[in-house]
Amino acid sequence: MGKLFVISGSSGVGKGTVIKEFLNKHPEFKLSVSCTTRAPREGEVDGVNYFFLSKPEFIKRVENGDFLEWAEFSGNMYGTGKDYVEKTLNSGHNLILEIDTKGALNVKSLMPEAKLIFILPPSMEELESRLRGRKTESEEAIKKRLESTKLEIKNSEKFDYKIVNDSIAQALADLEKILLG
Ligand code: 5GP
Repeated sequence: MGKLFVISGSSGVGKGTVIKEFLNKHPEFKLSVSCTTRAPREGEVDGVNYFFLSKPEFIKRVENGDFLEWAEFSGNMYGTGKDYVEKTLNSGHNLILEIDTKGALNVKSLMPEAKLIFILPPSMEELESRLRGRKTESEEAIKKRLESTKLEIKNSEKFDYKIVNDSIAQALADLEKILLG
């Protein structure tokens, strides 16, 4: 059986970049592609970043029991495909889920052997400026995301590990210690 790692972190914390660098160095790890009802951001590709679904299609999959977990985050729905997770772990591959903290805690209750990792920003000010610098969200969406950060940090108290993303290189080294250790 492969090992399951769940990585969460506030929007804009740079977790995507750290995970991408980790996967480039360690291609034996797989990353689960989630389904979402959110609209694609510029440059995002269906089937690569997410499977982009309409709300009715997403709800149909929830009713079919297709998701290991799903959650509403900032007004959109996100879900992890059950089949992919089971097949990947059964074939002996280690798997990373990049999901929100509610989803992470749900996964932990279903699969207690999963290791939960939370990536923190160096400070709230830094997080806000990174979110704004990304220029992909409206002011309203940015405010919603900053609000959810507080709940995310509270939920992270139950996580197994925390990493502060001060520099990508250090965060990557910390992640390697946990995932390869
Ligand atoms: P974004 O819209 O910035 O891509 O993602 C918003 C949040 O949803 C992030 O915290 C991301 O980790 C989380 N997320 C992405 N996919 C899933 C999923 O399948 N399940 C859950 N619970 N959260 C997800």
